[in-house]
Amino acid sequence: MNRFEVITPADLASASRLLAQDGHVAFAGGVDVLDLSKQNVESPTALVNLKGLKELGGIEVRPSGELRLGAMAKLSEVAEHPAIRARFTAIAEAAGEVATPQIRNLGTVGGNILQRPRCWYFRNPDVNCLKKGGDTCYAISGLNRYHAILGGGPAFIVHPSNLAPALIAMRASATIVGPAGERTVELEKFFTLPTVDPKRENSLKSGEIVTEVIVPASPSSVRSHYLEAREKQSFDWPLVSVAIALDRAPGANTVRDARVVMGAVAPVPWRSPEAEAALKGGPLDESRARAAAEAALKDARPMSDNAYKVVIAKVIVRRAIMSVAGLEAA
Ligand SMILES: Cc1cc2nc3c(=O)[nH]c(=O)nc-3n(C[C@H](O)[C@H](O)[C@H](O)COP(=O)(O)OP(=O)(O)OC[C@H]3O[C@@H](n4cnc5c(N)ncnc54)[C@H](O)[C@@H]3O)c2cc1C
Repeated sequence: MNRFEVITPADLASASRLLAQDGHVAFAGGVDVLDLSKQNVESPTALVNLKGLKELGGIEVRPSGELRLGAMAKLSEVAEHPAIRARFTAIAEAAGEVATPQIRNLGTVGGNILQRPRCWYFRNPDVNCLKKGGDTCYAISGLNRYHAILGGGPAFIVHPSNLAPALIAMRASATIVGPAGERTVELEKFFTLPTVDPKRENSLKSGEIVTEVIVPASPSSVRSHYLEAREKQSFDWPLVSVAIALDRAPGANTVRDARVVMGAVAPVPWRSPEAEAALKGGPLDESRARAAAEAALKDARPMSDNAYKVVIAKVIVRRAIMSVAGLEAA
């Protein structure tokens, strides 16, 4: 691990200026930044401490019903917030399933959506894979049990964040401040496939800081749910996750609107318009939920060792739909 300094900037503009310098890396909860440094995957010369920047703090449900999550809000605060649990359920559930209570007390909203992938080739300092500027994704001919089944290529990592699929299912946007000023980007468009740049997972530019995530108010008829499958029930990243948001007319069993977003299956949180279309139009019952799950995975292209993820994903999607619809899952 190389030596680095920790700089605590006085304000957001100074933080942005510092982060525009080579070797300067944002430090939120520090869980992933320090892991990457200790693994010699990244070698920052300075960590720019985001703690204390007032623009990044807090959680607020505004009178309009909109939810504002400061980028430095802790995952534990998101998971336990009564209004988020009641009105943005999938987001609270996704935060509550992250790792352990200790990590949820350190990890932040911004850090969670910006954490780097867990691919064992990427995390191995002795392997110069495609994501680190090499020319090969070793998962293709190597060990790919945990890799992409959708949207892979030329790198086959999966996006590791629990929060990202839930936020996208709830139509969230990020506010980003940087050298060019402030911009707002829908999270659905923020994450980028390896075809854009295999070394990156999103469109954050040098010197840019995510200050907050805004989730629009949703009608009281919307119900949401996050569900994941993992190998062990203590701390672990999901093998597959899904966030569902369903809007049904009060008293009716037909779906007016649906969002289905899977995690850990693709290099980005993977929204499935096919599953959403399958949910709309008729009575919501088990056969419709099953059809939606089949549709969600119809384009899956498993690698040599991960066809099992397709099977699990179908079950998780169907169960999440059944659960959010208040139907018994088989
Ligand atoms: C054992 C273990 C199990 C885990 N299990 C899960 C899991 O099941 N699901 C899951 O989703 N995660 C899991 N995690 C990951 C953990 O949730 C993340 O590492 C954590 O959320 C990162 O948050 P942080 O605030 O510590 O980010 P940091 O490590 O401080 O930052 C992460 C990255 O984001 C950048 N960054 C952070 N904030 C900003 C900002 N506001 N603007 C611009 N850049 C920023 C940093 O420079 C860095 O590149 C696990 C981690 C461990 C160690």
